[in-house]
Amino acid sequence: MTKNRIPISADQAAEVMFASDRTCCVCNDRGKVVQIHHIDDDPSNNIKNNLAVLCLECHNDTQIKGGFGRKLNSDLVIKYHDEWLLRVKKRRDEADKLAVSKAFIVEPRAQKIETIPYSEERTDAILEYVNSLPSLRRELQKKAKPEWDSGVTSRMVGASYKYVDTLQGILVTLTSFYPEGNFGGDDPHKFFSELISSRYAWHRSHAEPDGPNTGGTIVNVTTSGNVVSDVEKMIEDMAQSLVGYDDRFNWREWSKLWKKM
Ligand SMILES: [Zn+2]
Repeated sequence: MTKNRIPISADQAAEVMFASDRTCCVCNDRGKVVQIHHIDDDPSNNIKNNLAVLCLECHNDTQIKGGFGRKLNSDLVIKYHDEWLLRVKKRRDEADKLAVSKAFIVEPRAQKIETIPYSEERTDAILEYVNSLPSLRRELQKKAKPEWDSGVTSRMVGASYKYVDTLQGILVTLTSFYPEGNFGGDDPHKFFSELISSRYAWHRSHAEPDGPNTGGTIVNVTTSGNVVSDVEKMIEDMAQSLVGYDDRFNWREWSKLWKKM
């Protein structure tokens, strides 16, 4: 019996994509073209737990029948899907915790910051956080470095993904110094999920002039490396916008420390 396809609403699709950070839950490679897959192969079953984000190759693997090992059955997809969603959520929760500990020193975001004419404590808190970023970056780099130096593609790429995820957490933290809604709607995680996913897609696309998946695993290395630079630059941009006007802030010194390896 063939089941009738029931279209997934745009809102639901957006929610599924966001929960998966627009990333294939099986291979976790960033920036690939992805689609929403019905885990039980029933295109009319649009309940949340039945919808997994897969790249085209991993989706093909769910269609291969027989053979050894290659076939990605629904039990495996469920396992990958659950694990990936948990990882994405954990990462966002960690960013929120950081935001609370660093940014809400003075006032909760719920208050309308723009109605407060001036608060010395608030500018102090922003400056203090921005000034802490170069050493935070160095700490994160120190953790990633053995992996980056390993020469093993999967380890290098994994370390870059993790590093970018943490930088994304810093960006989310920095938004708490802006009025609510400054970054497109209610949830800054959504804003950066879209923005950074599109950077991955951009760098993956231009790196493969012969078409998708023709560049081999090295494309993951160059793509993630390029996104590292992009996201570091985004933090620089926000730092300058937030405290560039402050006489106490030394941009030249900060940049030097920020870029130091
Ligand atoms: Zn995949």
